[in-house]
Amino acid sequence: MSARRRKFYGWGYADEGATPEEIRLLEQTLAARFGITSFDVTPAPRAEEITLRAPRLEVPAGLKDIVSTAHLDRLEHCYGQMFVDVARMFARSCPNPPDAIAFPRNEQEVTDALAWCDEAGAVAIPYGGGTSVVAGVEPPQADRIVSIDLRHLDRVLEVDAVSQAARIQGGVLGKELEAQLKPHGFTLRHYMQSFELSSLGGWIATRSGGHYATLYTHIDDQVESLRVVTPAGTLESRRLPGSGAGPSPDRMFIGSEGILGIITEAWMRVRKRPSFRASTTVRFKNFYAGADAVRAISQAGLYPANCRLLQAEEAAYTGPADKDAAVVVLSFESADHPVDAWMQRALELAAEHGGSWDAEALLNQGSHRAGAAGEWRDKFVRMPYLSEHMVARGIAATTFESAITWDRFKDFHSNVMDATRRAIKRATGREGSLTCRFTHLYPDGPAPYFTLTCPLDKAKMLQQFWDIKHVALQALVANGGTITHHHAVGRLHRPYYDQQRPELFAKALRAAKRALDPKGMLNPGVLIDPDRSEPAAK
Ligand SMILES: Cc1cc2nc3c(=O)[nH]c(=O)nc-3n(C[C@H](O)[C@H](O)[C@H](O)COP(=O)(O)OP(=O)(O)OC[C@H]3O[C@@H](n4cnc5c(N)ncnc54)[C@H](O)[C@@H]3O)c2cc1C
Repeated sequence: MSARRRKFYGWGYADEGATPEEIRLLEQTLAARFGITSFDVTPAPRAEEITLRAPRLEVPAGLKDIVSTAHLDRLEHCYGQMFVDVARMFARSCPNPPDAIAFPRNEQEVTDALAWCDEAGAVAIPYGGGTSVVAGVEPPQADRIVSIDLRHLDRVLEVDAVSQAARIQGGVLGKELEAQLKPHGFTLRHYMQSFELSSLGGWIATRSGGHYATLYTHIDDQVESLRVVTPAGTLESRRLPGSGAGPSPDRMFIGSEGILGIITEAWMRVRKRPSFRASTTVRFKNFYAGADAVRAISQAGLYPANCRLLQAEEAAYTGPADKDAAVVVLSFESADHPVDAWMQRALELAAEHGGSWDAEALLNQGSHRAGAAGEWRDKFVRMPYLSEHMVARGIAATTFESAITWDRFKDFHSNVMDATRRAIKRATGREGSLTCRFTHLYPDGPAPYFTLTCPLDKAKMLQQFWDIKHVALQALVANGGTITHHHAVGRLHRPYYDQQRPELFAKALRAAKRALDPKGMLNPGVLIDPDRSEPAAK
């Protein structure tokens, strides 16, 4: 059903992957860090090695053009892109595949696909790029399951150059979206790590966090209006630059993770491509000195485009290496004016907290590929291609992320690090590697992002992994943070999300779901369970 096949067991398309040089460097790094002398490499799975349960649905004649029950299509839609998703594919294990995949080509066909799910009593899972790392697209246990893949809704339909906004279909992937905006001189600039393979509808449904470290951190503020197909009908919000007319309909669907409806279109705020840039890396003696500096920067109203604080070990891994220091990758950009004054002031604040930098690096202006920020970005976007090679070698690689106010940050950070390190040791008997960086910054607190890498025993890989990961997730919530700053809730984070959100809010959300999806067929188990205390709506 697609011209270019996605890889079903890892990142990217079937015809691409990590280069031999990247794999060699990965092995060198793992060997140096964990003292591994030789690698036992599990071969990547072939589609024919994995048996899937027979489809339990008959596709009606009228939908045969857009619904597939082909083995490879079903295989591609079994999992997202978590470590355990790739690991289960390498274990050749997909016990609960979707029965069929619908590939609607327009909004009417989205409606038709939902109507079919309704008639057939099937669960419907909206599917954008399938890059969820929280089991957002993994089917729950159900008698019949249909994934609704929006890949054909892939166009920028209209550009309003006067208001700087564009009407864009929900299934378009990031790279294609930017390519279509470029001739108009605009960009959405929502460059998250998974940008190439994730979709606009997925970003809105998960409240994704882009590359801007401050100000426009989540997709939320770039949404002007939405069109959503629900089992109860289709709705469209009004295009407005702002509105005080009651609770926002857009905000109800932003972050709804496919449980309320399928986002088919959105008017998005776009901007001119930046032409003025300044970037550098600032070194600090340790992570907390760096944290104090970026707090000062974020509270000074400077709004850097990038302000990533990296722990020393992680900095060495992703590029701007400096053995003992913590590093801040700092950049400013504008389509309108030089940004040197902003950079100058940010560096003054950094210096007040002991920061030092290479004055030469400041000359690297102009292209986003230039300078330290460019180097960091290039390595960053290549990293997902290594995930399958880590799994093949029995190395756990996972991330978990949160946000916390500044007054509690240091305790939060040290408690989460301690609890997770203890869990790694308990589960594997080894130290592993655990690093932290800030992905986003607010005047009242940072979004800390933890990366865990650790050799596992291949025979009990999943058990060891879960023993560690659940301790880490519980530590985020127990220490006052959110279970997720931008990875969403999905099925993975549900037990922790339940601890943090008020119960009355869950009740209100269940009521909204009953109005829009009376039979509860859309992505059940994500965010909430059906309200069983009240009779189902007719
Ligand atoms: C290597 C890697 C790096 C990542 N980096 C980031 C990052 O920097 N920032 C970040 O925020 N996230 C990141 N993620 C997580 C993931 O990419 C995001 O959650 C992304 O927004 C998911 O988009 P998608 O199109 O792939 O959605 P999918 O994975 O297809 O779906 C995610 C959820 O949204 C629902 N959904 C999808 N499309 C629609 C729609 N049109 N209407 C209604 N519901 C829908 C699905 O049902 C599911 O619940 C990363 C993931 C990976 C694997």
